[in-house]
Parts: sequence; structure tokens; C-alpha cells
Amino acid sequence: MNTANGTNSANSVNALWHNHAHMPTMPGREHRIVRGAGAYVYDDAGRELLDVPAGLWFANVGHGRAEIADAVHRQLSELATYPVFGDFCNPRAEELADRIAGLVPVEDAKVFFTSGGSEALEAAVKLVRRYWQLTGEPARQTVITREGGYHGLHGFGTSIVGVPAFREGFGALLPGALTVPAMDLAALEAAILAHGPDRIAAFLCEPVIAGGAGVVPPADGYLTGAQELCREHGIVFMLDEVVTGFGRAGSMFAAERYGLRPDIMLLAKGLTSGYLPLGAAVAGGRVAEAFWAPGSPHVFQHGLTYSGHASACAAALANLDILEREDLVGRVRSREGRLLEALLPLREHPLVADVRGGTGLMAAVALRGHDVAEEVAHAVVNEGMLMRVTGGDALQISPPFVIGDEDIDRIPVAISAALSRVSGRRSRAAAPSSRETPALSDTA
Ligand code: PLP
Repeated sequence: MNTANGTNSANSVNALWHNHAHMPTMPGREHRIVRGAGAYVYDDAGRELLDVPAGLWFANVGHGRAEIADAVHRQLSELATYPVFGDFCNPRAEELADRIAGLVPVEDAKVFFTSGGSEALEAAVKLVRRYWQLTGEPARQTVITREGGYHGLHGFGTSIVGVPAFREGFGALLPGALTVPAMDLAALEAAILAHGPDRIAAFLCEPVIAGGAGVVPPADGYLTGAQELCREHGIVFMLDEVVTGFGRAGSMFAAERYGLRPDIMLLAKGLTSGYLPLGAAVAGGRVAEAFWAPGSPHVFQHGLTYSGHASACAAALANLDILEREDLVGRVRSREGRLLEALLPLREHPLVADVRGGTGLMAAVALRGHDVAEEVAHAVVNEGMLMRVTGGDALQISPPFVIGDEDIDRIPVAISAALSRVSGRRSRAAAPSSRETPALSDTA
């Protein structure tokens, strides 16, 4: 019903559509997070929760940084943004592009800003295909990705995602996607040869597979081997550092840790630590030259209203200041062993299938099935922690870089307690004569 002020009151409740969520059963299940400080968030029931996944892998410098809020406020008051479009641009975008170019292990880097990781992937794929057109090899259109890989869910992202469930049910997808097993160099080479190297535009991978498969560090030698295969066959080597970029894997970029020099790098999340949405496709000279070389007549016909959004760039600059001043990347590196060692004993629990990690503050506790993982993630709230399920059946352990050592040690204790509660509930449910009903706190 339309009210006097023009709102439709019948539509005014429960209109928020949650991503990847079953909406008919949502009412009553919403977990509202209302505030954050450091490694903690607070929900609307007033509970303090350790933010174990750092939101969606992004809250790297921690929540509630007044310095970033102030930088954004200053920028908003001066000029919210002006588009980096045609001749127009804004100084924050220029400043940030230069700062990123000075950090990334990408030769002669040029930075194309987006609003997030999915958009960075779409820009990069268009860029690389256009590059091949301009350099006389228009048949090079296929992008190879890996099983379990995740690079966002826009058009091309949906077509190449290595999680079949994310590709299904949308009808025809975009052509030019080829998926190979995740850690098998022989399979990658066989796919390149079978498809024809002269039809392959790029190979794209995450250095450490994040959400698609639930934290899978690279097999020894895999990434450098893949890079070499790309070089051998002229294939553009694209690295998705949306999660690993800016310290998450224990070095500023995972490329450095694994000795990689990608032609194109994708960035988002840690670029602003999530304070505002921002991503980037960073192209090295090899690809960018087609558009940047003096005398080149070519224009990359791609554009986004909010590319290089000045206030988001101001957030990123303040975020990078904090990251560097507090040596948070060093902190991640020095804590990776402690985190993995703390988690490993969980392997003894019958409901735990695997513990993976050892790459910065990125780890996962894989459980025996999706339902168990969901139950544990819910139960752990009673232990003062917020967790989420990633890769289908794993708990994502990727805390803010500012997490204290005692909090690192508390993570396995909380998971253990939640596991006991879940196993107890499961065995009671399995026992036919059981008359027990679950405690209220169990169902929270
Ligand atoms: N690439 C990787 C490795 C990611 O994990 C994600 C998101 O989780 C994306 C790309 C997509 O980024 P966004 O969700 O910002 O579009």
C-alpha cells in the first residue's frame, strides 16, 4: 500500500536479498553484524565475536580504523569522486595507481580500477583478448582456469568458475573457458597441447586457492611450472591475488613468495581492507604496451562509472599506510606457523577430514560434509567466534592481521568445543530412545 510519503509499506520489510542464501528460510536466521573493532565484530544481540574469516577475507587491517574513516571523510567532503573516464580523472586514483605500480611484482605495471574482484576479472579477460587481436593472433581467446578456482561471478567469471554448482542453471555460458585439474602440471600441459597453444589467450590461477576449494596451498613447484609453460607457449600468465594480495599469504603479494612475475594481476579485498569497494586489473608492459606505446592508435574500450572512485582510493591509500607502518605483512608471516600448529591437533577429531594452511593467515578446517561444517559454524558462535563455511565443507580461518596470539590459540579451542556439541547432538539424534531436546544455546 502506498503511503503519503510515497513508500510502499507492503514492500518495506524483509526485502534484503542475501547472496548465495535460501531466502524462504531466511526470516529469523539473519545474523546482523552492527559494529567492528580490531579483530572483533559485534552483533545486534550484543555479542562480541572474533571475526575469524575477516568478513569475506578482507578486513586485513582490522575493523574500526578511524584513520581510514577520516581519510574517506576528507575526500568525500572535498569531492566524492570524479570518473577516470576519457580525459577525466582524479588525483587520488592517480596516486593510488602509482603506489600499486610501485608495489606489485609486475613489469611496468598499469592499473585499471574496478569496484571489486569480479569486475577486475572481466576487465582482465577483455583486455587480454583485445591484446591478442591487436598483436595479430585473434584466435587466442580461451582462458584456462583450474578446478576449485574462483574469480568472481559476473559473466565470464561464471563461465570459468571451477565450482560446477556456480555454473549450472544459467543456460548458455560464454565460450572460451577451459578448466583443468588444480595441481597437475602434466594435465595443464596436455590441455594446452590438445586445445592448441595458438588458441589460448591466458592461464589464470589463484596462488593459494581460496573460497572455491577451501584454502588449498600450491603443490611444490606447481606455480613456477605453470608460469614456465605459459612462457613457453606465449600464453599470458594471470594471477588472481584478490584474496592473497596485500599480505594475506605472508608476503605483500603471493607472487613474491612463490617467485612469480605475472603478466596480469587481479586485486581487490585487501586493497582497502573492505572499507570501501575497490578492485584493480594490473597489466604489465607486455600487455599494456599495445595500448600505451607512443603512437599506438588503440583504445581499450572498457569503462565503469566508479573506476578509480576517489573516496575508495583514499580508503586504499590510508589502508596501505597502516599496512606498511605497522608491518602487518611481517606480522602475518610470523604468525602463520603458530596458526597452523594450533589447528593441526583438530585432525584427530572424527568429524574433521583435514586441516590445511601454512600460507600466511590462510587456513581451513575441512569437516566431514557440508552439513557438519554449517552446524559447527553455527555452534561456534556460542564460543564467541564468527566463522563461515568455504569450499563446501571447510571452516575458513583467515583472521584480521591484527589478531592477538591468545586469540589465535583460542580458535582451535572454540572449534573443539563446537565439534563436541555437534557430535553430542548428532549421537543423541541417532539414538532412538533419546528423549533429550537440544539446549537453547545449541540452536542459536
Ligand atoms: N577472485 C577471488 C580469488 C575471490 O576470492 C573473489 C571473491 O571472493 C573474487 C575474485 C571476486 O571478488 P568480488 O567478490 O569482489 O567481486
